Amino acid sequence: MPTRSRKTAETRPANAGRVLVSGGAGFIGSHLVERLVARGDRVCVVDDLSTGVESNLAPVRDRIEFVGRDLSLALEHELRAERFDQIYHLAAAVGVELVMNEPVRAIETNVDLTAQLLRFASASNTPTLIASSSEVYGKPGKELFSEEDDVLYGPTSVTRWSYACSKAIDEYLALAYAREGRVPAVVCRFFNTVGPRQLGDYGMVVPRFVRAALAGEPLRVYGDGSQSRCFCDVRDVTELLPRLLGEPTAAGRVFNVGSDSPITIMELAELVIDTLKSESTIITVPYSDAYPGGFEDLRHRRPDLTRVREAVGFDASTVLIQTIRDIAASLRQSASLGSEGGV
Ligand code: UDP
Repeated sequence: MPTRSRKTAETRPANAGRVLVSGGAGFIGSHLVERLVARGDRVCVVDDLSTGVESNLAPVRDRIEFVGRDLSLALEHELRAERFDQIYHLAAAVGVELVMNEPVRAIETNVDLTAQLLRFASASNTPTLIASSSEVYGKPGKELFSEEDDVLYGPTSVTRWSYACSKAIDEYLALAYAREGRVPAVVCRFFNTVGPRQLGDYGMVVPRFVRAALAGEPLRVYGDGSQSRCFCDVRDVTELLPRLLGEPTAAGRVFNVGSDSPITIMELAELVIDTLKSESTIITVPYSDAYPGGFEDLRHRRPDLTRVREAVGFDASTVLIQTIRDIAASLRQSASLGSEGGV
């Protein structure tokens, strides 16, 4: 049964916006919802809790409307006649493992939902932020990724690239709606966002390492660990998103969103162990064991942040050590509560 609840607070400013966040119970979504509630918006969250967790919304649960249902059904029923001032579309199939294990679900979720959501937004020309991914770049064979770069994918027989292509279709659609004047859509390509509430279950390396370090288990580094990524704290990302969607010149454009400070995965493993003063060891795992179904890991990935800095100014201010500590605190708390929520 879908769940729906609404509580209105009389203290909200009269000009507060009404905002829809799809995927609002997820990792990035729940942090964004907290920020929007704090600025006085009336927030409606739609999340089918497939990868989102309702307890992620605990800090704001009594100040939001929550529709616990698949977005597609919610748009057809609960939200059919509703209008919003802004939409943040974060509902998506996330994580390497999900994409590899359930490719049909991943492709359909990413393409169908975005198409339906943009049709919905076009009814009232609602400014809409579409969450995309650095995966869209494919394997360009260079370290620095800029929005106007060509993309290069592997063959369609390699499942991994379906995620990149599905997100690229989302982008084409959003940009087409913007070009036709039907939705002022802004596309954000997220680069390795990390922080409390992120699920290690879906393959993300930072929560996995933190969990292993807390348990005193080995940290499993895939390959030789010389591959690098730039990790950006979710709180820096969610501070940026409302500013970007509120910037009129951002409509119809794609923006890289992330940190541009790289770290190798071996250095990351060492940093996690040092930061948490863990007794864990580091083991290297051959790619063939880590991804038995086959997977092409990217060597390096770093966003060119020139465009987002020019548009609204942005510097990720949270250092990785702080993020690691906060993920650990969140994990300890969810373990002590015996909850299934948390990281
Ligand atoms: N990785 C790892 N151990 C893990 C999970 C991931 O060494 O337990 C590596 C993975 O091969 C990749 C990097 O960490 O090189 C980042 O992986 P993640 O899935 O977090 O993000 P993405 O591959 O999308 O950058």
